[in-house]
Amino acid sequence: MYIFLDIVPDFRCACCGTCCRNDWLVTVDEAGYERNRAFFAATGRAGEFAAAFTPLAGRRAAGEYAAVNKRPGGGCWFLREDNLCLLHREAGHEHLDGVCRLFPRYPMRTARGTEATLSFSCPEVLRLAERTAPLDIIRTEEPPISLDGDGFTAEVFPRQQRPGSVLGYYFELEQHFIDIMQCRGLTVADRLEFLERAAATLAALPRSPDTGRILDRLVREDYACLDAAEAGGQVRLGPADILLEHFFVNLIFKKVFYLQGLAGATRLLAAIWRRLAAAGAGSEAGRYERVKGAVMAAEFEYCHNRAALLKIAAGK
Ligand code: SF4
Ligand code: SF4
Repeated sequence: MYIFLDIVPDFRCACCGTCCRNDWLVTVDEAGYERNRAFFAATGRAGEFAAAFTPLAGRRAAGEYAAVNKRPGGGCWFLREDNLCLLHREAGHEHLDGVCRLFPRYPMRTARGTEATLSFSCPEVLRLAERTAPLDIIRTEEPPISLDGDGFTAEVFPRQQRPGSVLGYYFELEQHFIDIMQCRGLTVADRLEFLERAAATLAALPRSPDTGRILDRLVREDYACLDAAEAGGQVRLGPADILLEHFFVNLIFKKVFYLQGLAGATRLLAAIWRRLAAAGAGSEAGRYERVKGAVMAAEFEYCHNRAALLKIAAGK
């Protein structure tokens, strides 16, 4: 089973080069390093290989052996002036390493099957998200785009949680959290406050054989409040508000509440919201562009900079 947000099948890379100019460290594992050494040696360009890669010293994360160097302007060493990747062009997609093969796709292996979404730090993904209709979750037997074989960015198996724990019911909670974020009878700020309250209540529940029953009651109470808010009519939402809705729905679908825990994810979302709300404050003129820039920066900083993410989730 493939489960994905409905923007996924429409993604086409526009070769804008933004991701290859990001301020992130592109790393390769030892096999990738040797593969590149052999590739450049075979084409008589050992010097180019030495200029492009730097083996990492000291403590390294698993799978990180060497870094791809940057050009003086900050772009990846392999990014050409026409925004195409020299490695991709000469050696093909399969030759690239993890993040370069995957980005902006975000495939996850879960108890439900293979799930997928996209990163909101890619301008082409934001273009797909420029729409009023809520993001939808699609289920099919066929992969929406090429997903297998490049590894997974997350593994989610709620049954591996300790018996009676709230996260054992993760998928039900995910749908509930998405429904909160898509309640258009509330402002985005009110939805986040609602979500924060709901997650805090759930995080405070002790492990218990009654967890399922308690959750069922709490979630039903929440839906009664959401229904009442929607019955009052839609609040006025501009394009920036809709983008914020889509961004947070995407973040929830990326399983942030499972991966960081209910309390950690709540802190993370609150920190992200403070920055996005600040970007959206003030004049209506240019608000969408300000929020869009802040969404891209937030996705990049919090979702690709794991150290920053873990620091916030740990409350430091
Ligand atoms: S930022 Fe997105 S559209 Fe631009 S090159 Fe990267 S993947 Fe392609
Ligand atoms: S190796 Fe290629 S795809 Fe990866 S960051 Fe560099 S230019 Fe982009």
